Amino acid sequence: MRKGLVLVVSAPSGAGKTTLCRRLLSLDPEISFSISYTTRPPRPNEKNGFDYFFVDRDTFQKMIKEEVFLEWAEVHGNYYGTSLEQVKEAVSSGKDVLLDIDVQGAFQIREKLGREAVLVFVLPPSFEELERRLKKRGTEDQRELEIRLSAAKEEIAKAQAFDYLVVNDVLEDALDKLYSILKAERQRTFRRSDLIMRFF
Ligand code: 5GP
Repeated sequence: MRKGLVLVVSAPSGAGKTTLCRRLLSLDPEISFSISYTTRPPRPNEKNGFDYFFVDRDTFQKMIKEEVFLEWAEVHGNYYGTSLEQVKEAVSSGKDVLLDIDVQGAFQIREKLGREAVLVFVLPPSFEELERRLKKRGTEDQRELEIRLSAAKEEIAKAQAFDYLVVNDVLEDALDKLYSILKAERQRTFRRSDLIMRFF
């Protein structure tokens, strides 16, 4: 059995990463989504235990102390964290796991997992298009929108450290690129020694 890989997808808010990730998950049965914990309040369409596990700040702080998280970060004033247990369980059962996390989280994963993790950064086609998409989404008020737009530039400046870049202009094209990355990474020699060992 091959060991599952950890696919990290980061992007500035509004780049269309969530849609891209959901589509990838529906295409491939061998990859599952890591449901993060967050202190951010749920948006109207979000479900606890599906999009996120929504917890209060005290609970989150306690979970940090109890080392529940593989990585955690404060993003736009809220805490977000990846469950170590969820990732471990998926990877050890031969499933790949997708982490939709921010740049700070992506770097912590690289630090801890090295090349076991694959880091993909999703870019919007332009800054203007990012602004337009965020406004259209309408989930943030004006202040939050400004915070997210200024954070976007800082995040894009760090994209250089990722393994792959995918521009999300036409969704289907971006999805095709993301899926190709996953499929190629699954065949990396260091992940597939099982294929060679069968001959001996
Ligand atoms: P949103 O509030 O729009 O759902 O997410 C805000 C940002 O937090 C996004 O960039 C998202 O990828 C990131 N995020 C979501 N879950 C996690 C997590 O578990 N860890 C980290 N570091 N970032 C996360």
